[in-house]
Amino acid sequence: MLADKVAIVTGASRGIGRAISVALAGQGVKVVASARNVEALESLVAEIKTLGGEAVAVVGDVAVEADANNLIEQAVATYGRVDVLVNNAGITRDGLLLRMKNDDWDAVLDTNLKGAFLCIRAAAKFMSKQRSGRIINISSVVGEMGNAGQANYCASKAGLLGLTKSVARELARRNVTVNAITPGFIVTDMTEQMTDKAREAMTEQIPLGRLGEADDVANAVLFLASDQSSYITGQVLGINGGMYM
Ligand code: NAP
Repeated sequence: MLADKVAIVTGASRGIGRAISVALAGQGVKVVASARNVEALESLVAEIKTLGGEAVAVVGDVAVEADANNLIEQAVATYGRVDVLVNNAGITRDGLLLRMKNDDWDAVLDTNLKGAFLCIRAAAKFMSKQRSGRIINISSVVGEMGNAGQANYCASKAGLLGLTKSVARELARRNVTVNAITPGFIVTDMTEQMTDKAREAMTEQIPLGRLGEADDVANAVLFLASDQSSYITGQVLGINGGMYM
């Protein structure tokens, strides 16, 4: 059902974005993979092609308007359409509020929230004309719960939920759905810095008793990108092992 669709994935060079890209390509989707690191993107494209899939790399910083516009334009120029946009690029700059620097606030909001806005605005133009599209925003469970030491990150991820619901209302009549996924703790570079003790404490808070895998998130993306989810918009899907209900 997903075969021959065209999907843009931001933050595709590693972690969850890479798993999403490989999973989509495995379903016959043409993947436009984007991030700032060209070597990592090229290795992803090579991996997808080795597996018999189709992908192209577009280097760019989602927080830069010209790069976001170029990403969508390159997808249309290469494959003629844009069916799915996965806003996955994200960073953390953790620190307690009283010590948080303006730069740490701005960098996280610029990448995680403004970056998604810029990509959505550029893609919505094409999706509205096509009268079809799927926008999937990767938020976080801490955008729902809050987390000490992550005021900037949680604000960006909570903002992404408001953006999701507002754009879902605006684009529904154009047959474009907009949903968010809120992963819990997923094993990637982002969570690797945790000590064993912190990891154990974290696992204790998760009813299913384990951290998540990138593929747990990728599977949810496959569903939200597919025709099977056509009556779902403006929703938040938690992939968190039950840590937030
Ligand atoms: P990761 O391993 O650190 O990967 C982040 C990705 O985003 C990389 O591909 C990075 O590529 C890209 N990126 C960062 N800044 C960018 C920018 N300005 N422009 C374009 N690409 C940029 O992180 P992850 O764990 O896979 O997380 C992926 C998403 O899931 C993030 O939005 C994160 O907030 C969210 N999430 C993760 C977890 C978790 O437990 N891991 C939980 C909840 C939510 P380059 O450095 O090459 O640009």
